Amino acid sequence: MEFSSRLGKLAPYPFVEISRIIAEKRAAGADVVTFGIGDPDIPTPQPIVDRLLAASQDPPNHRYPETDGLPEMRRAIAEWYRNRFAVSLDADKEVLPLIGAKEGIGHVAFCFLDPGDLALVPDPAYPVYGVGTMFAGAESYIMPLLEGNGWLPDLSAIPDDVAMKAKVMWLNYPNNPTSAVASAEDLATYVAYCREHDIALLHDAAYSEVGYDGYKATSVLQVEGAMDVGIEFHSLSKSYNMTGWRMGMAVGNADMIRALFQIKANLDSGVPQAIQEMSMEALTGPQDCIEDNRVIYQWRRDRVVEALRSMGLDVAIPQASLYIWASVPEGFTSADFAARLLEDIDIVVTPGSSYGQYGEGYIRLSLTTPDERVETGCQRLENWTIPAPREG
Ligand SMILES: *Cc1c(COP(=O)(O)O)cnc(C)c1O
Repeated sequence: MEFSSRLGKLAPYPFVEISRIIAEKRAAGADVVTFGIGDPDIPTPQPIVDRLLAASQDPPNHRYPETDGLPEMRRAIAEWYRNRFAVSLDADKEVLPLIGAKEGIGHVAFCFLDPGDLALVPDPAYPVYGVGTMFAGAESYIMPLLEGNGWLPDLSAIPDDVAMKAKVMWLNYPNNPTSAVASAEDLATYVAYCREHDIALLHDAAYSEVGYDGYKATSVLQVEGAMDVGIEFHSLSKSYNMTGWRMGMAVGNADMIRALFQIKANLDSGVPQAIQEMSMEALTGPQDCIEDNRVIYQWRRDRVVEALRSMGLDVAIPQASLYIWASVPEGFTSADFAARLLEDIDIVVTPGSSYGQYGEGYIRLSLTTPDERVETGCQRLENWTIPAPREG
């Protein structure tokens, strides 16, 4: 049989490959410490799980959900948004629950992109922006994220004809994988640009709740005029340790939200209602877990930065996100260096190059590993002598 050309265009999803290597290593008896995937090791808070248990006993929740979710769910999202960002949303028109942010991020391409269209996509980046674009038959125009520009796209580098043609712009702050943040002024620049060029602004704010040293991320919807051109994606995954339950949301411009609803209504049947109920508990119940997580991740952040610096690597202390983004030593590619860490000291990191060509020269370390494993990993890093790069 013959498979589609889009299937052939897919690079292996980076974490599938890493999971395979870890499994192999562990099967061979290695004590692998993983700083790979960003998947919180801390359990979902008990009151949230309890709500799911209760909700699972309620027969109406055994039936198909609505694509746009329970009205109470949409109201809980709007209320969370008002409390957190002082942005008011119409719960029926400007809010859409998602089966995890990834689902919406992938599907939203079909709302704006036809074959031959152009999307402005940052690099390095979460791979789904570019993959969704490709699935829709459109092309990505790469916006390099460079250290010298604070890992923000440089709009002056985008040619006029590209700006005229582009249908969407993807942004993600706090950023995965670079852990960079964007100020309200930065975000305002992108909003103004998208308004000027009639581009749909798609902001992925999956890490809005993971901030350190008092840092609180800005929502793009706090920028005046953003509602005219943009939507924002959020996720309960990283904020409430809920990656396994699959709950996210898109909020913002009503026409864009309706478009995403139309696509989704034809492809999925919404978030299981018991999961919606537990998500309401997360968004409207006590928010302690966000601060509890911050304390845990901040210790790990400081420990990992200390270890990497003692190895002589160049690394900034992130203000947000679950990631440390470090440059690799002279003479190594990202993939070589990651491979050496795995071969020599059984440590898994993600090569920056798996997030795009401009991620080359860096590795990403995720802080979603238990403290004692972080400590073990850091000691291994500190006691390791970086080998000479292999020839060729
Ligand atoms: C983890 C992550 C998501 C996905 O969140 P889910 O709600 O679990 O699908 C989206 N965007 C970025 C940048 C992420 O790192």
